[in-house]
Amino acid sequence: MKKKKKIISSFIILVIIGIFYLFQNYPIQNNQDNINKRIEEAPVTAEERLEVTFIDVGQADSILLENEGHYMLIDAGNNEDGPKLVNYFKKQNISNFDYVIGTHPHEDHIGGLDDVIENFNIETFYMPDVITTTKTFEDVLDALGEKNMSLSIPKTNATFKLGDATVKVLYVGTEEERDLNNTSIVLKVTYQNISFLFTGDASTKVEEKLNKSDLQSTVLKVGHHGSSTATNEEFLNTVNPQYAVISVGVDNQYEHPHTTVLNTLASHNITTYRTDQDGTIKIITDGTNIEINTLKTDTNG
Ligand SMILES: [Zn+2]
Repeated sequence: MKKKKKIISSFIILVIIGIFYLFQNYPIQNNQDNINKRIEEAPVTAEERLEVTFIDVGQADSILLENEGHYMLIDAGNNEDGPKLVNYFKKQNISNFDYVIGTHPHEDHIGGLDDVIENFNIETFYMPDVITTTKTFEDVLDALGEKNMSLSIPKTNATFKLGDATVKVLYVGTEEERDLNNTSIVLKVTYQNISFLFTGDASTKVEEKLNKSDLQSTVLKVGHHGSSTATNEEFLNTVNPQYAVISVGVDNQYEHPHTTVLNTLASHNITTYRTDQDGTIKIITDGTNIEINTLKTDTNG
């Protein structure tokens, strides 16, 4: 009998360990214990902070920003990422987004937006002034329709607040652009002395159109998953970032990020993070200091 009890209790312990490991590998979660790399440029302890999370959605973009309980989402990964993102946001008790932005109507940016629209309250939904006939785009329009919401087109140079952070629209493409990537909404987010530049998949053609005086930023979300069509040397000189983040999938068919872009970043001594290598990348700032945490996951398949 004693031996049987021992076997049962060993079994229970094994099950508990098993469950623990299962949760360890749960996709895109926000558990402090699982952060496997912590780069403390200067630990941010202030309660007033801007958090910018580059969520690991493989070969796609999804970036969550939060300040003072106000949330903004830039892109929502591919179609299959929708439910995972919804789960991730619900776990953080997010119920309302002040702003949701689809930078441009390609699947790897707007794929999961229909799920986000269905599951959360969204105060303002921004996309560029472009219509495509893909099912993915129609799904987004249908989801908006179901909630009696409409799509708004932001104006270049418009600014709006996300809590105490300021968001400036630097560029919005129109239907005249033949390349949908170049319709990308480009945003700069500033929180006191720290700023972030988000260029979607815009190419050098758009980079050259941007107003140079707006560009200097602490953190650059590298354009178009590190494609050589974006991030040329002159642009990088003007942005002059300390950090760069590339949202890119493991072994992707496009061979992103391109070596030329990686070399340019390296030659400018820019510390570069990649979602394919680092997983989800969370940058926290109090407006002066920056803390960077990364969480490797197995969602990249
Ligand atoms: Zn893309």
